[in-house]
Amino acid sequence: MLKAYQYRLYPKKSQVTVLNQTLEQCRMVYNRVLAIRKDAWELEQKHVGYYETKKLLPEWKQEYPSLKNVHSQVLQDVVTRVDKAYTAFFRRVKLGEEPGHPRFRQFGRYDSLTYTQSGFELDGQRLILSKIGDIPIVTHRTFEGESKTCTIRRSRTGKWFASITVKTDTPLPTNIQKPSVGVDLGIVNFITFSTGETVPNPRFFKTDESALARAQRRLSKQVKGTVKRRRSVRIVSRIHERIANRRNDFAHKISRQLVDNYGLIAVEDLNIKEMVQDRIYSKSIHDVAWNALLQMTQSKAEEAGCCVVLIDPHYTSQTCSSCGHVDKDNRKTQAKFVCLKCGHSENADVNAAKNILGLGLQSVASTLSTVLA
Ligand SMILES: [Zn+2]
Repeated sequence: MLKAYQYRLYPKKSQVTVLNQTLEQCRMVYNRVLAIRKDAWELEQKHVGYYETKKLLPEWKQEYPSLKNVHSQVLQDVVTRVDKAYTAFFRRVKLGEEPGHPRFRQFGRYDSLTYTQSGFELDGQRLILSKIGDIPIVTHRTFEGESKTCTIRRSRTGKWFASITVKTDTPLPTNIQKPSVGVDLGIVNFITFSTGETVPNPRFFKTDESALARAQRRLSKQVKGTVKRRRSVRIVSRIHERIANRRNDFAHKISRQLVDNYGLIAVEDLNIKEMVQDRIYSKSIHDVAWNALLQMTQSKAEEAGCCVVLIDPHYTSQTCSSCGHVDKDNRKTQAKFVCLKCGHSENADVNAAKNILGLGLQSVASTLSTVLA
């Protein structure tokens, strides 16, 4: 099992310059790889894959010597990122959707880089990064286990963070005597439990989202290079940061309740849900908050000795939780689910949460029986 640790970095001025230059090199490579794959797809309907594009890196290093200043794993990770974007793109094409093509990154819009295996080392209050330097770091808690990857991220307000993933031995779920729960991620309510309880959307979802939209509108009207525009950029960044703080507080609170009260938590796999969901809602504060909730629940679950199971959400809203009848036309468009076979009717989100719980119990049944034996 992988666990991620976040740390704040305090690079010196000269190190900030190197970090920004490195991100810029990564952005250039990202856009070049994307261009090659995009042309191949649009001109010849051809796939150019990960390995074919990775093979180009040595050539490019000859052509652009500045690329030699970037750690080779960091560059390979850029190729991986383009590949991930394409995998998601083609998956949606296959499903018959018309997804937007992966996009080129504008200047200043590429803000993280990853060492995928080595080239980084945590040494007391310094993070030693190959090709970048020894950066002062604040580590409030250290980790045990083998570090796997290290991602350096620049926030919109220019702060720097390191996220280190660590491999730990997975403890077996010990709290299996606690009740199990299914969790549905919804739009009307933030989440709905299989017990029928709900956690409503917090007020700040709406108020902050409209504050952000207002600030962004104001920003878009301003002329580049003016003092007014710079001020507006700062305001937008500050709202983003405020949303992130509130969202994290909220996710911390809910995830704490979940792991304290339940031994098995079954929840939809968001990577799949994103593809399944009717795309009425744009990527919003909701999606990010769900992601934060899942991540926090998973990391707390480990310590609390409970088990989080991710469920494929494909039919959870179209299946009757009472008789198991699946009706693909029974899409969750109404607040109430009505089974066309047995007549069972129930709040649609509660019905989905019960199905999620059922699938969760099924998938751990074998594991649990070994634990109990
Ligand atoms: Zn039924």
